[in-house]
This record gives sequence, structure tokens and C-alpha cells, in this order.
Amino acid sequence: MKVSTYDLNKIAEKLNLSIKDLNKAFKKKILREDEYKETKTLLFKKEFKGIEKGTVIFLNDNLDIVRGYPKTYRAITLYPTLKKHFIDKVVVEEKLNGYNIRIVKIDGKVYALTRSGYICPFTTKKVKKFLNLEILDDYNKYMLCGEMIGLNNPYMPYYYKEVDRGYENLGFYIFDIKERETNKSLPVKERINLCEKYNLPYVKPLTVVDKDEAHIHIRKIIEKLNKEGREGVVLKDPDMAVPPIKYTTHYTQCEDLKSAFTFFFDLGMDFLFSRVVREGFMSYEFKETLEERKKRAKDLGEAILLPMVETINRVANGERVSEDFELIFDSEDDFDEFLDFMRKMKMVIKIKNIEKINTNEGVKIKALIGKIYNKTNDKIISYLNGTLWE
Ligand code: ATP
Ligand code: MG
Repeated sequence: MKVSTYDLNKIAEKLNLSIKDLNKAFKKKILREDEYKETKTLLFKKEFKGIEKGTVIFLNDNLDIVRGYPKTYRAITLYPTLKKHFIDKVVVEEKLNGYNIRIVKIDGKVYALTRSGYICPFTTKKVKKFLNLEILDDYNKYMLCGEMIGLNNPYMPYYYKEVDRGYENLGFYIFDIKERETNKSLPVKERINLCEKYNLPYVKPLTVVDKDEAHIHIRKIIEKLNKEGREGVVLKDPDMAVPPIKYTTHYTQCEDLKSAFTFFFDLGMDFLFSRVVREGFMSYEFKETLEERKKRAKDLGEAILLPMVETINRVANGERVSEDFELIFDSEDDFDEFLDFMRKMKMVIKIKNIEKINTNEGVKIKALIGKIYNKTNDKIISYLNGTLWE
């Protein structure tokens, strides 16, 4: 890519970094150029001196900045963690299991940025269609942070009954509105009022509790969400004066393991230990009986072993296993553009099926795409053929 010229001084000043630091970030390849159609950006690939990973600088006259979405810390125990972390009240929100998106409007154009700071063509088109984004004309300095959920997406294909639109299962819920250049969040109430005013979908608080009793209430909520097969909660200070904290259900721990162990040589290692630790502390804190603990252990074991053996069986039968997702596009051009984007993301994919479907909004393209995990496929074949474990 041709290196464009832009005012490094101004960028450094806006980010509160020195020119020296900025150059260091370039040199270390933490700061990289990127482009989406005619839009050129700089992108932080990693956290750097307080600038979040996924921070994007639009290379326009303003040098508009969109800060990366901060990491959400996890409570391993509810007590005393919540009591220690929060100030007074705790807002409990459901944690949706989709992918994080920041929506901004720059030079009159709407962009949907992924967590890593890429402008996603698929998501950008969907949010423009799903939402009336007038709010960004009135509040251009804000970014709408939310979760894109549903089965028909390329990142986290997970069914949610509330976002069923007939031919497509996909929807967006705002959980945070932030000043995009400073990353300062609006208080929860203000965020909700704005969403209501502009008729935007948002994550509704389940309840507000005192921090001293939070662990008791949240345990009950978690048990209910667990039964319903939902991911967990994100806990917030009403004024967003301290960072949010997440806590997830046993169901999610198991689902994560199941999906990771389907492609176990690619994903198993990174997923395993942290999930098992979460379960260990939950079992302790919930004062389980031996019987309950054994049930948990059985669930965990099955979540690991069953998908693994299933995958080995499939590979042994000559199949190349892939993670499949079905996406709906308005046109061939949109589909092609998305394929280019996937290649840029270095995702190894295989198009398994394409068909035209009739919907109440006209003819659309439905594509079945498989994400290939080469390591899992290749290693299984090699062990089945007698290779020794090193
Ligand atoms: P990290 O831990 O770095 O934030 P991760 O990919 O491991 O990233 P998750 O475990 O999914 O993240 O938890 C944090 C994410 O949860 C947020 O980035 C956000 O996308 C998502 N999320 C879903 N529902 C909410 C909610 N109600 N409030 C805040 N975040 C939510
Ligand atoms: Mg998530």
C-alpha cells in the first residue's frame, strides 16, 4: 500500500502521544495503514501506551479518531469481587453472545467497526438497513457500541429468537454510547434515554442492586440465564464511573468448550484452562453438593470429549471439517466485497453453496460458507496414519 502523507503532529497531539512514540508504533507494526474503498485509516493492532487495540484514525482533514472498545474484566468470584469493585449501585445487564461493533459516522458516512478496528462491509450494510442512525448527525462525537447477534453472521453464529426476521436471524443491540475520541461512556440512564428518543434497540437492564447484596441477586439471575441457555451478565456502575465486569453461565462455559473442541487442535488450548477455572470457582462459590459437582464435571467432560471424537470420526470418514455459516446478501457485488474482506482477514474459507432466495424485500443471495481449520484436519489425519506425539 502506498504510504499516504498526513499530519503526524496532529495525530500525536490528538492521541496524547509523542511523535517518537507514534513512530515507534509504526516501526513495531502496531500502527498500520488500512483502507476500505476510498476510506483510508490507521489502525492500532495492539494496545499501545494507553491507546486501546482496535483504535482507528480516519485519514481525513479532521483526522477523526475512534477509540477501541476496552477490555471487559471478568469476575471469577461474585463475592467479594463485586462489593470491592463497585461504588454503590450495580446495574445488571444481560451479556449477549454475538460480536462487538462500534458504529460511527465520519464525513457523512456510516461505518461499522469490528473489535479489531476493521470496517466490516457486511456489518456496515446491515446496520444501515436495520437502524435509523440520525442520532449520529446530532451527536457526531458519539459512537454506538453494541452487540450484533444471531445465526446469520460470519463471526459468532449463534441463534437468538428475538432477532428472527424470517429469512435472516440477525440484529443489533446497543449496550454503550461513548465519545469516540475519548472513550468516555454516557451514564446508563442517559444512554437509554437517547436510545429511546431515537428509537434504537438497546440492552435493557435486568435490575439494579446494591453492591453489598449483588452477589446474592446475580447468582439467582445467573441460574435463570443458565437454564435458558443464555451467556451471562455484564455489571455496570450507573454513571459508568468504574469499568464494567462480566460473569458467564455454566451453559456458556460448556458451549464455548464444545465449539472449541470441534476444532480442538486450532482452538482447544486457548479455551480450556480458563473455562475450567471459571467452573471450579463457581462450584466452590455456589456451595455445590457432591452430586451437583459431579453433574458439572460430567457436563464439562462431555463438552470437551464428545465434539472432539465426533470431529475425529468425520475426518476419519474422509470429510474436511469446517465451521459453517449462512449469510444473506442483497447482491452479488455485496457478496464479492465480503469475500475480499474475509481474504484480507486471512480467514481460510470455502464457499459451500450459493442460492437465490425470494423474500418480502425482493431476491437475495444466501451463501453457505465454511471456515476451514487446517491444523485440526491435518493433525487428525496424521495421527490416524500413525504419527507419534512429540
Ligand atoms: P474482552 O474480554 O477483551 O472484552 P472478549 O472477546 O473476550 O473480549 P467477551 O467475553 O465476549 O469478550 O466479553 C466482553 C464483550 O461482551 C464486550 O466487548 C461486548 O461485545 C459484549 N457484550 C455483550 N453484551 C454486553 C452488555 N450488555 N454490555 C457490555 N458488553 C456486552
Ligand atoms: Mg462475546
